Amino acid sequence: MKTRGRTQELSVGSATRLLLVEDNLGDARLLQEMLKEPDSPDFELTHVESMSEAVAWLGENTADIILLDLGLPDGQGLDVVRQVRRAAPHVPLVVLTDRDDEELADQSLQAGAEDYLLKGEIEPRALIRSLRYAVERKLMQEALSVEKDRVEVVTLNSLGEGVISLDVSGIITFVNLEAERMTGWSRAEASGQPFTEVFQGVDATTREAIQDPSEWDSVDDQTTRLLTNGLLISRDSPELPFEASVSPLYGREGQATGSVIVFRDVSAARAMALEMTHSFEHDFLTGLPNRILLNDRIDQAIALAPRHHSQVAVLFLDLDGFKHINDSLGHSVGDKLLQSIAERLLGCVRQSDTVSRQGGDEFVVLLSDTDDGESAAIVANRMLIAVAEAHSIESHDLHVSTSIGISVYPDDGSDAETLIKNADTAMYQAKASGRQRYQFFKQAMNVRAVERQSIEESLRHALEREEFVLHYQPKVNLRTGQITGAEALIRWVHPSRGMVSPAQFIPIAEESGLIRPIGDWVIEEACRQAQAWVASGLPPTVMAVNVSAAELGDETYVQRLGATLGRTGIDPRRLELELTESVLMKHAHSAAILVQDLRRLGVKVALDDFGTGYSSLSYLRDFPIDTLKIDQSFVSEVTSAGSDTRIVAAVIGLARSLGLKVVAEGVETREQLEFLRARECDEAQGYYFSRPMPADEFAEMLRAGTGFDVDPGHWPRTLPELTAAPGQSNPLPL
Ligand code: C2E
Ligand code: MG
Ligand code: MG
Repeated sequence: MKTRGRTQELSVGSATRLLLVEDNLGDARLLQEMLKEPDSPDFELTHVESMSEAVAWLGENTADIILLDLGLPDGQGLDVVRQVRRAAPHVPLVVLTDRDDEELADQSLQAGAEDYLLKGEIEPRALIRSLRYAVERKLMQEALSVEKDRVEVVTLNSLGEGVISLDVSGIITFVNLEAERMTGWSRAEASGQPFTEVFQGVDATTREAIQDPSEWDSVDDQTTRLLTNGLLISRDSPELPFEASVSPLYGREGQATGSVIVFRDVSAARAMALEMTHSFEHDFLTGLPNRILLNDRIDQAIALAPRHHSQVAVLFLDLDGFKHINDSLGHSVGDKLLQSIAERLLGCVRQSDTVSRQGGDEFVVLLSDTDDGESAAIVANRMLIAVAEAHSIESHDLHVSTSIGISVYPDDGSDAETLIKNADTAMYQAKASGRQRYQFFKQAMNVRAVERQSIEESLRHALEREEFVLHYQPKVNLRTGQITGAEALIRWVHPSRGMVSPAQFIPIAEESGLIRPIGDWVIEEACRQAQAWVASGLPPTVMAVNVSAAELGDETYVQRLGATLGRTGIDPRRLELELTESVLMKHAHSAAILVQDLRRLGVKVALDDFGTGYSSLSYLRDFPIDTLKIDQSFVSEVTSAGSDTRIVAAVIGLARSLGLKVVAEGVETREQLEFLRARECDEAQGYYFSRPMPADEFAEMLRAGTGFDVDPGHWPRTLPELTAAPGQSNPLPL
């Protein structure tokens, strides 16, 4: 391409510019004479006597031909040929050698000379002919090369691929039309710029800037390098996905002359690939994931389950009587019904779950991250109801039901295929036992789900049937041994099950919303009881009541609590509400306001089960609480061998520094008590002192007024059973 300019200079319409490099003045004069022959072309001759003069002259001037003596004072033989070629690569060269050195003359031709003349044998016509031919041959070559370049440029411009060529130092020498379009740089702007300036690319995945092409993946060491995942940051269009290859360029003598980068806009191909992946993984009718994607998601959920300490449930749904609708109303109605059902199923699950269509009227739902089979049962129930509601399609009100089989990882299978197969089996059982129902693959799960339903059912009537009672567990001051208060703990005396523990029914009450009326009853009853004790002359103590997150979500909570305080007449300072960390998490920003509102009523606020939830010490700073209850799991740790007691010690220290009261929960042994006393924990509760007990027994204990012996100095040394039998009451109420 550079040669084009050169060709224009090589016009020989006027005098031919000849540079003669010859140190022997006699020879030089002889040659000059010969050039004056009558039929000789018009030469404009410059004579220099050394290599260095020649190079200097060529640096400033242009010659049409060079006549070069190979024996110069500052250069000999092939060396001078090379020097001249370097100084004037495109100027034809004829060399002069001694008669006895024809071998050197031959080598000169190979090194790029057009012709040679043997000194002493030169005669004028031969000299002139040689010079003229040399010039003409060169011109011919140039013309051919220009034509070749022109053809090449036209070809390159017609390519659908971008082409950029670089010289050895990475500077752009050529940009074709497509490259102009893709980079937003015109050829004129880009030429002479470093490659990375014009071609700004990043790796599509890592977004790291693409460096020099020499760092791309090598296909083979000698030739092409590849870049497959690039994004081109064009000057004026959005990012373009591209693929590129770069090949080194070599000159005729095998020397590296640069490289050429060929790149392609692959946005259409990538979009097509994405679309193909989508249609490969999705059901065309409903747009839901198909079997392939579902299997993949199940495998992922299984892989993550251990880390999340969770289970994975698979629900297999088959519509009841779909075939009848399809046959009687036609496929178009059937298709729309399937789409409507897909919508409804999606409405029953979380974003992170997967509803898929297996084909026909079968759907498979993946519930990742479920805590137990029970939540799968809740979702299944929701789906039974959602599907059964009328679907209005093309002026028909269609009714259809579904049967659901459920399998759960890890109990019912450890891979997608087995889980789906077992859910399918369970679905057949559901159909066999009457349709429009769900069925777990394992009988035990059914029993549990049925059990849960039955608990919820009887929980609904428990309040009106007055089946709840409160038990009270004393809190003990660890310095004096005195009872400072009671924690009210609910008990359900079920007509057939007997005493049901709150751990069994509180979660069900929370989920079903029943916790609100139950919680109201607990507060009312606890306050009433506290007042009754005061009225009967017992020393006033603090009554602690547990409150669930679900209760506090109700906006009217604070107001209703105020009403309860008024009704029962309890001094608000003697009521303490125990909230767990999850309450503060769930209502994060409103929680601080809530706690403040509660305190404005005058009641105290305790943080229960501290350390089990998110254990963020920041709660202690951000929420204006009064009391911190260290969870039982930490207390039980403190005396077991090798456990880290520093946590408990640190929590006590921190709470004290924030001015909070610290209560240790679940103290069962004397060692635990000693440990806590030594760290100046304020209060404790636990089986070591007393189990939760009915109101009258608690009153009895208060009336005795003796408290517990917490002073190690008083403890007889011979009571090993104290530690051996956790859960035993302190044998030494004074
Ligand atoms: P919690 O508030 O942390 O209550 C302490 C639990 O530890 C009580 O269990 C109590 O009986 C038990 N406990 C006390 N001392 C010891 C001990 O030394 N060792 C052992 N192993 N356990 C001890 P309970 O009564 O079964 O209550 C369980 C949970 O149920 C309570 O934990 C509380 O979160 C919730 N709960 C109880 N009553 C109510 C209520 O009226 N409303 C609400 N919302 N939740 C309640
Ligand atoms: Mg509590
Ligand atoms: Mg607790």
